[in-house]
Amino acid sequence: MSTTHTVKPGENLTTIARKYGFSDWPVIYNFQSKEYRRRHPNPNVIFPGDQLDIPSKTPAAQPAPEFSLTIVDSNSGTPFVNLTLRLRFPDRTESTVITDRTGTVTVISGPSAQFGPNDTFDLIDAIDGSDTPPIAYLEPKFRQSGIRVNSSFVFHIPDKRAIADNIATKLKITRRSKWGKLTPNFVAMEQDWDYEIVALHHSGNSGESNPLEIEQKHMVTKHQWQDVGYHYIVERDGSLFEGRHLAFKGSHVELANTGKIGILLTGDFESSRLNWNSTTPSSDQLKSAGDLITELKSVFSTLTKLGGHLDYKKDTVCPGDQLYSLIPGLRTKLGLGGP
Ligand SMILES: [Zn+2]
Repeated sequence: MSTTHTVKPGENLTTIARKYGFSDWPVIYNFQSKEYRRRHPNPNVIFPGDQLDIPSKTPAAQPAPEFSLTIVDSNSGTPFVNLTLRLRFPDRTESTVITDRTGTVTVISGPSAQFGPNDTFDLIDAIDGSDTPPIAYLEPKFRQSGIRVNSSFVFHIPDKRAIADNIATKLKITRRSKWGKLTPNFVAMEQDWDYEIVALHHSGNSGESNPLEIEQKHMVTKHQWQDVGYHYIVERDGSLFEGRHLAFKGSHVELANTGKIGILLTGDFESSRLNWNSTTPSSDQLKSAGDLITELKSVFSTLTKLGGHLDYKKDTVCPGDQLYSLIPGLRTKLGLGGP
């Protein structure tokens, strides 16, 4: 079946093709008789009054129902690549899929997965396992139920790995994987995120003068933790070290670690104890700590408070009076409240 089109002034094959729902002019040209094409060797040269046969547009076959889900980093909006997703199909079976370069997974109804256009999917798990440490998104808020087939669903979750990487790159922080002698037990650690508080610590009398000593103390000699307790360590010369990966809950304020980023400034800043080594934080150390907190604040909109260890635990003098007395000034400078 076809119709006849009479060319009007100003028309060309492209405009005529579009008029009838075709994206390319050759569809029209090739449909004409041999005689027409012999008389019109140049497809672009047509004249008002020419008669063209227009093919009837066959309706496209009904596409198979398709489920597609795109995951993007909630901070940057960039696609979340290589994220392993666990989906639950409408028939309650489960499947593991991995997001592509555009952060998308697409499942088409077929022999391996059968569903109709009105079915729904559940996202029950997401694991960023592309490198150490594996970061799982097991929190209930990251799960999604009833995502409809044939809807283009974009799901925003924080790319925790990328966020920690960016902070480290920006501030030239020595990564845990570079300085550590021991490997954290990532699978055994509880996760945390959406931090609200930065808690400052000092080394005190008990050593902890550098990251390796802290690692020994926290993982071998004093405690047998899965990793060092602090998220970051700031040495006297201002150099920054990554401790426990930000995706994991710290161990620095007993029984109250949730929502707190732990930062240790090395040194003994408590002057009331009989101690030859007590001192004040160096200006380099305070500058680096300030830069780090500023960066953390820009990443976590939930981060509104800065305090010292003793604000959150009664029987400690940490971070020492010499650092504690500086915290109100830091709060003002960094735009944070307390404690
Ligand atoms: Zn402390």
